[in-house]
Amino acid sequence: MRTPIIAGNWKMNNTIADTKALITDLIPLVKDAKAEVVICTPYTDLATAVEMTKGTNIKVGAENVHWAEKGAFTGEISANMLVELGVTYVIIGHSERRQYFGETDQTVNARVKAALAKGLKPIICVGETLEEREGGKVEEVLVRQTTEALKDIAKEELGNIVVAYEPVWAIGTGKTATAEVANDTIKIIRDTIAKLYCPACAEEKVRIQYGGSMNPKNVKELMSMPEIDGGLIGGASLKAADFSLVVNY
Ligand code: PEP
Repeated sequence: MRTPIIAGNWKMNNTIADTKALITDLIPLVKDAKAEVVICTPYTDLATAVEMTKGTNIKVGAENVHWAEKGAFTGEISANMLVELGVTYVIIGHSERRQYFGETDQTVNARVKAALAKGLKPIICVGETLEEREGGKVEEVLVRQTTEALKDIAKEELGNIVVAYEPVWAIGTGKTATAEVANDTIKIIRDTIAKLYCPACAEEKVRIQYGGSMNPKNVKELMSMPEIDGGLIGGASLKAADFSLVVNY
């Protein structure tokens, strides 16, 4: 019912030369994928990535977007600028942005609105820290992050939104949430969307990925869970062989 979506998050990796080599290797390896395939790259690689993936099944995303249309925001990039490049997706609210760059639930919501207004598809990241999990706050944190991210977003937009559940303690650490924990936690997010909109909206429209050390070894088990609609992949998206194994789980 919900098409799986596997997205790479390159973070601050890959020059244009690296991008050319990686995408050249990746195209033939993922051409028959059942899942939707996305690579989210640094701004400087986007034009190359879009050009190289034209006519393929790979879509390109950015890793952030500013909420304003234009103006005095030195160093920022607007949704219009991404659309003009041919970008389809944009990661919003990644835990690294929340942790290192002052991203809040409110700025996440502002970015989501700006992206949707210009036709970009947001991949909204939510997830608890280890302290929050150990303190029994998983549900509270995820309900708050999900509710705030979707504030004032119309029901009609839900089909354009992907949520990535990324437990902060599992990102880049090699620790993966067990498939059961990931599934149960994603259910909390889906139930929240059902309450905010409607059960069918949550069931049919919104795809929810798992992210956090997903790799060729654990992808099959994670993707076998009913609530997990895909993955947001960091480290394992930087090598064509690894990423293609995840994509072709
Ligand atoms: C991420 O940064 O979105 C991520 C999931 O990273 P990794 O796969 O390296 O844990």
